[in-house]
Amino acid sequence: MDYQAVLEEVAAHARPYVRQGRVADYIPALERVSADRFGIAVADINGEVYGVGDWETPFSVQSISKTFSLALVMAQSHGGHDSIWRRVGREPSGTPFNSLVQLEAENGIPRNPFINAGALVVTDRLQTLTGDASTSMLHFLREESGNQDLAFDQAVADSEAEHGDRNAALAHFMAAFGNLENPVPSVIEHYFWQCSIEMSCRDLAVAGGFLARHGLRADGSRLLEAREAKRINAVMLTCGTYDAAGEFAYRVGLPAKSGVGGGIIAVIPGRCTLCVWSPGLDARGNSVAGAAALDHFTTLTGWSVF
Ligand code: GLN
Repeated sequence: MDYQAVLEEVAAHARPYVRQGRVADYIPALERVSADRFGIAVADINGEVYGVGDWETPFSVQSISKTFSLALVMAQSHGGHDSIWRRVGREPSGTPFNSLVQLEAENGIPRNPFINAGALVVTDRLQTLTGDASTSMLHFLREESGNQDLAFDQAVADSEAEHGDRNAALAHFMAAFGNLENPVPSVIEHYFWQCSIEMSCRDLAVAGGFLARHGLRADGSRLLEAREAKRINAVMLTCGTYDAAGEFAYRVGLPAKSGVGGGIIAVIPGRCTLCVWSPGLDARGNSVAGAAALDHFTTLTGWSVF
């Protein structure tokens, strides 16, 4: 596979979509980013990395961090991760990523770890396991990406905290059901910091390599059991793009996780991990050009999981 040539063609296909979406503005600091940006990277399972466009420009990972926090909780639980699944489900929600509506009827158990409520539970667990969830996430992402310069974006974290009433409401509501182990202010603070980490398409594609290598890191050491990596990929496929996960599976056919910074990571087990970035979002919070690019990538290569 000539990845570079495929990526050039994918980028040319996605270009017209770049200005179709809207940059997220409900976190004011995210609005600073130009809607014109587009980058895509592929990291194959042997460590080769290819990229096109703005693939080395850092952006706010936002909800893409939810994949990595789940992986880190599983890795830190040393096989005893089943406890997390008593506190969070694995069904698509069919509601927006920051919705409150299901939580009351479902006794404070979020539908899945990739909506905000579920990610707050995972962050809470990570806080218990590590004593410092967001710093553990930063170190984990530095290790997996091989980029020791990764950092939090303080302006984004502050902006999220200032406009964080909805996430605070989700956390308080779950606490009322006894589904948080740590105080609400600490859980939401670590969650905002983890969302604010800045990474490029290159960093994210490389960091997500263990999902394509059935749980193995780039150096061959084991981060997760193969069945754990499989489970993360399964939940990405069904829940990783919020209430558009069905449409995304239909169009792209890959496990994927998006974030409102405009990034999407996608996994082709046994082959490679991709990351695409373009800040213009659709109404569900997924990058318009990013989805178009991944759609075209699987069309050109025939590499969906189906
Ligand atoms: N930090 C964002 C929030 O909590 C993440 C949402 C997202 O990327 N979908 O609202």
